[in-house]
Amino acid sequence: MENMFCFQCEQTAGGKGCTVSGVCGKKPETAKKQDELTCALINLAEAADGKKTSEVTDELVLKSLFATVTNVNFDSGRIQELIDEANKQIGALGGAGGNCVPESLFKGDTDTISLRSTLLFGMRGMAAYAWHAFVLGKKDDDITKWFYKGLKALSKEHSTEEWLGLIMEFGQINLKCMALLDDANTSTFGHPVPVKVTTDVEKGPFIVVTGHDFLDLKQLLEQTEGKGVNIYTHGEMLPAHAYPELKKYPHLKGNYGTAWQNQQKEFAELPAPILYTTNCLMPPKSSYADRIFTTSVVGFEGLNHIEENPHGAKDFSPIIKKAIDLGGWEKDMHFTGINGGSELVTGFARNTVLGVADKVIDAVKTGAISHFFLVGGCDGAKPGRNYYTDFVKMTPKDTVVLTLACGKFRFNDLDIGQIGGLPRIMDMGQCNDAYSAIQVAIALADAFKCSVNELPLTLVLSWYEQKAVCILLTLLSLGIKNIYLGPTLPAFVSPKVLDLLVDKFAIKPVSTPEEDLKAILG
Ligand code: SF4
Repeated sequence: MENMFCFQCEQTAGGKGCTVSGVCGKKPETAKKQDELTCALINLAEAADGKKTSEVTDELVLKSLFATVTNVNFDSGRIQELIDEANKQIGALGGAGGNCVPESLFKGDTDTISLRSTLLFGMRGMAAYAWHAFVLGKKDDDITKWFYKGLKALSKEHSTEEWLGLIMEFGQINLKCMALLDDANTSTFGHPVPVKVTTDVEKGPFIVVTGHDFLDLKQLLEQTEGKGVNIYTHGEMLPAHAYPELKKYPHLKGNYGTAWQNQQKEFAELPAPILYTTNCLMPPKSSYADRIFTTSVVGFEGLNHIEENPHGAKDFSPIIKKAIDLGGWEKDMHFTGINGGSELVTGFARNTVLGVADKVIDAVKTGAISHFFLVGGCDGAKPGRNYYTDFVKMTPKDTVVLTLACGKFRFNDLDIGQIGGLPRIMDMGQCNDAYSAIQVAIALADAFKCSVNELPLTLVLSWYEQKAVCILLTLLSLGIKNIYLGPTLPAFVSPKVLDLLVDKFAIKPVSTPEEDLKAILG
């Protein structure tokens, strides 16, 4: 008898599915509530069929899907509130919703479950990006409508070809969503510029900010100005240092810690509070739970939570007070990344890279650059992810490593040299900045008058949660082939669906860095 069923992330139990309790710490009760919420959204999409939805309903759909992403919300009470709100909206739309029941979500033949889950998990990832754009005032009707279309499709029967068609269509709409978020970020905070970020922490009060939400960081920077409280990024917040409208604050000092899965160790003795703006939240240890503050869709029972007011503003005074009370360290502290480096470089988003496109193109033509690798994606707790560190260390000196998302914490403190004045490792930003990488690849393909698949470029991706799923589907929808994917393949991809992906897109599971590099470079 199963307590729950969830197989949406890379660390799922036994590589098959969490059935007793979540490896991530999600309890069966919360998992069931998330299934109930998913069905409520499907029923809501049915009720909205042919009708104009309100901004409140649209916002609810984004927020609710985002809340079911791995390591975002563990609070059953908060999930129940979203279910209640969805049911209320079904009533407001006339009450004739669908009849999805949670037990049906992961039932059926193996391939149907696989295809349905792929679409559902991709949509959960896209909801996170749409939400970040939404809080910055950007919304797009095509994207919003696709959430309803995709949700409705989840409760219907489709042939394999129809499912694949839906999944490819979804990949294209997710590209649009990442473009929307890119526009939201760059129009609000400016285009990222290359910047060196220290891993050291100065003495005195400070706050660590983690997650992906730059608007939360901006509000916190404003509210801490002149208060003697420094701000340090963590995890996916690192690229914030590159944005002009964020880097202009002198008290945005550096980056603390490594990737998300090390938080229980790195936060245990921290004399400072931590603000979680999105995933990845791990169940906190009692040693630091009172120092955690969550906001937005992030939730965990018993933790401090900061809500926004009706005008979208947040009052961060409780966390600022906590920082002042804790006082920080008494002396400046020296920290390093996992390879011993104490300086991280970020800010190589599309504007910067395309700004030196001529230089890059010349370097390829003269043979100074022989190959590009995009080594990006999520980090995770399971062993085997050293692959990515070793892979980068082994790349030849005439190759460039583009990177993005938190998987880079495996190697972003390494100094592997430069080519023509540019660092060999170029951090393009957060996971959603896959959009930047796509734009750069398309520009290079244009310059060389070839397709992206013909470029000397290989994608070596690491996945963990559902945002990686939506990005992968976008890459496939663009026809990008020969992607190396690891550290393990998704449990929700059935053997037959995997065969289809291998046949059509030549997706390859990672093997060893030596073997993969040999296969790529010959
Ligand atoms: Fe398991 Fe991942 Fe689901 Fe958590 S999110 S319950 S670890 S599959």
